[in-house]
Amino acid sequence: SVLVVGSLNMDLVVPVPRHPKPGETVVGGDLRRFPGGKGANQAVAAARLGARVRMIGRVGADAYGAELKRGLEAEGIATEDVAELDVPTGVALISVGEDGQNAIVVSPGANARLWPDDLSPERFAAAGVVVLQLETPLETVQRAAELGRAAGARVLLNAAPAQPLPEGLLGALGVLVVNEFEAARVAGAREPAGPEEALALARVLARRVPVAVVTLGARGLVWAGAEGAGTLPAFEVRAVDTTAAGDAFVGGLAAALAAGEPLVRALRFGSAAGALAATRPGAQPSLPTAEAVRSLLS
Ligand code: ADP
Repeated sequence: SVLVVGSLNMDLVVPVPRHPKPGETVVGGDLRRFPGGKGANQAVAAARLGARVRMIGRVGADAYGAELKRGLEAEGIATEDVAELDVPTGVALISVGEDGQNAIVVSPGANARLWPDDLSPERFAAAGVVVLQLETPLETVQRAAELGRAAGARVLLNAAPAQPLPEGLLGALGVLVVNEFEAARVAGAREPAGPEEALALARVLARRVPVAVVTLGARGLVWAGAEGAGTLPAFEVRAVDTTAAGDAFVGGLAAALAAGEPLVRALRFGSAAGALAATRPGAQPSLPTAEAVRSLLS
């Protein structure tokens, strides 16, 4: 099974003719509300792709928190460890300009109060794959990685949002997944200019983790590890909105690894999931089913 330790957010989206400057008021269109947070998105992705999924996270004791938990439960995800705290649920305030450019304010709320001692070791014993991101406190991510490794699970970190990582955290990982920008931040290097430079960067990262994957959007991905290194082109699709393509990829990779697939097949599965997510608007609504992924793969 897959254990996701991470964030849950309510995304509050308003279309605007243009973004306000400080001190200014801009009148926008109707508010729309979407469940989000990288942790929750990746949990939903893995569940739709056939994995048994449990999530550990924190929401507020408010309407958004209840709605987010119900949403996960509707996907068959175990939420006993998504506790409600006396602080607001995490939200992202997103204004979308007419040119499609977003301006985003994130208020992590309850996500920032998931602490290392909140993680029960027995949850990790049952997990084949542990999936982590960086939208909860770093010390919690690090403890989760250590608990996962100690339990014999494969620990997958999607190092987003980008930040440099302590060596102790990298040492507990099985798989590191980053996009080009995040790869540069983790390696302390400049952003790779193309697939060749990205592959070189993946090889550098693979000196510190067993497997490093650098995703390149519509250009696919590169990976490096003890078993070798390689390039995987993206599936050709008509992309309309790449929001959550990265989360679909991570969820798909985790689901395939948990099902016992070897690395390269699992990367292909994840990459098909990422491509399909790019063909539909939104985050969680765009996450594909296992059936859709299998039909793209065949
Ligand atoms: P992130 O959103 O984290 O930056 P990417 O955009 O690199 O992640 O997407 C992750 C993976 O999803 C890619 O490696 C690719 O396999 C797939 N993907 C993303 N965008 C597209 C696209 N436009 N067409 C096909 N596949 C895509």
